[in-house]
Amino acid sequence: MPENLLSEADVRRLSALLDESKHIIVTCHVSPDGDAMGSVLAFSHYLWRKGKDALPMVPNIFPDFLKWMPGTERVRVYEKHEGELNPLIAAADMIACLDFNAPDRLLGMQKPVLESPARKVMIDHHLDPSDFCEWRLSRQDMSSTCELLYRVLVQLDGLEPLTYEEATCLYTGMMTDTGCFSYNSNRSDIYYTVGQLLTKGIDKDKIYRNVFYNYSADRFRLMGYLLYVKLEIFPEYHASLMTLTRAEQKMFSHKKGDTEGFVNIPLQINKARLSIFLREDTERNCIRVSLRSVDDFPCNRMASDFFNGGGHLNAAGGELTCTMDEATDLIRKALKQYAPLLKEGSQMNTKQE
Ligand code: 5GP
Ligand code: MN
Repeated sequence: MPENLLSEADVRRLSALLDESKHIIVTCHVSPDGDAMGSVLAFSHYLWRKGKDALPMVPNIFPDFLKWMPGTERVRVYEKHEGELNPLIAAADMIACLDFNAPDRLLGMQKPVLESPARKVMIDHHLDPSDFCEWRLSRQDMSSTCELLYRVLVQLDGLEPLTYEEATCLYTGMMTDTGCFSYNSNRSDIYYTVGQLLTKGIDKDKIYRNVFYNYSADRFRLMGYLLYVKLEIFPEYHASLMTLTRAEQKMFSHKKGDTEGFVNIPLQINKARLSIFLREDTERNCIRVSLRSVDDFPCNRMASDFFNGGGHLNAAGGELTCTMDEATDLIRKALKQYAPLLKEGSQMNTKQE
């Protein structure tokens, strides 16, 4: 059985904060992914069973392929209902910040959250957590916030009361943040946790299909277009680049989340070490940069050196305010500068983050 993550003092403090709170907003980073939605919904279900008035609230819309998750009908999207939601944020007793490490990851929700007198707690697995919460659990060794949250919930109340809905949401985040247990997933604890979640009757095969066999035809054709027309391969750097403009997104009736996961695909190319994806944002005037790597290539360093961003060793992102041509020029510059680390590429090194 894995060791307890929380000290006794931490358990007491978190329990006391929860006891003192009735109205609790549960939130996550902008453009929520499976781990963000999984942790927000699992924690909301937990709070509902404890009789709390919990409100899952996300900064902007979440992808359609996560709509099947239990509880999504109760999720409020801040961006769509700012006026109505601001007073609820201001009046909350607690704001639970899940799967993000800094308030700017809340975009427009940042200001009301920071201004709210509500006590903030953070449960997260990203690097460099910032200091805006009364209580914080930040563990970069955890594969997902959902894995971390599972450990917290079990430590607070034990496994027995954990529900099917909570387990389903927790498993979803663990599965999506590890690429279906294909990266960041060598710790044996992960599989102990999965085993425990299965005792709650979750259908992990169905969860897989719900997430990954649930795409729109438009997304599927967009994927084909990107791979056939837009993929540029740099064999000398063991790297690749895909770009997607606003006009191209329109051609494929792009909806939020439609490009989720595309950046991972070129890593399937023999000897690939780095995949870069550039997408013109449709809401803001910028280009979103996504980086993925295998082995020890540091995406986070490249993201902070060149793309105003950061992240993890093997998954990082950032953004640029320039034209797509300027952005691709910058990519070439970045590849050139990182050539020594890219060229040495051996896939034998399985060092973890
Ligand atoms: P994605 O490529 O999925 O947008 O982001 C992958 C990871 O990179 C995220 O989990 C996050 O840790 C990090 N990341 C993405 N965008 C940014 C950004 O603009 N700034 C920083 N610091 N990190 C980012
Ligand atoms: Mn996560």
